[in-house]
Amino acid sequence: MASIFSRIAAGEIPSYKVAEDDKHFAFLDINPMAAGHTLVIPRREVDYLFDLTEEEYVSLMEFARKVALKLKKAIPCQRVGVAVLGMEVPHAHIHLVPLQTEADMDFRAPKQQISAEEMERIAAAIANA
Ligand code: AMP
Repeated sequence: MASIFSRIAAGEIPSYKVAEDDKHFAFLDINPMAAGHTLVIPRREVDYLFDLTEEEYVSLMEFARKVALKLKKAIPCQRVGVAVLGMEVPHAHIHLVPLQTEADMDFRAPKQQISAEEMERIAAAIANA
């Protein structure tokens, strides 16, 4: 059974798509810490980030950088924070979070409530930045 993130990347489960190429996919986190909170994944299903091959790892980071540059253009912020946890979904993913303050990257804090329409608008703004 493919992971939920593999199914998202394959278009079988809907997502707020931000960017993609043949090996990677980026989409908004459904429970965002901040508006624009994005997840970046390799299409190949590997649970633990550091189990990717060196080539896959470098390529994922390069793709994440491109997404982060778009993210900062679309959502003005001090920094784009980067984190990897993987405690919930066993498919390697990088969290990119627009930060105004350090407190914007608190995984335990209550998540933002953002309407589907606003999520669509945010995803399109990042995609087109
Ligand atoms: P973690 O594995 O601890 O890095 O957390 C997994 C992240 O994936 C959480 O921030 C979830 O909100 C997010 N997430 C889980 N399911 C989905 C989904 N279907 N679409 C978008 N984000 C998701």
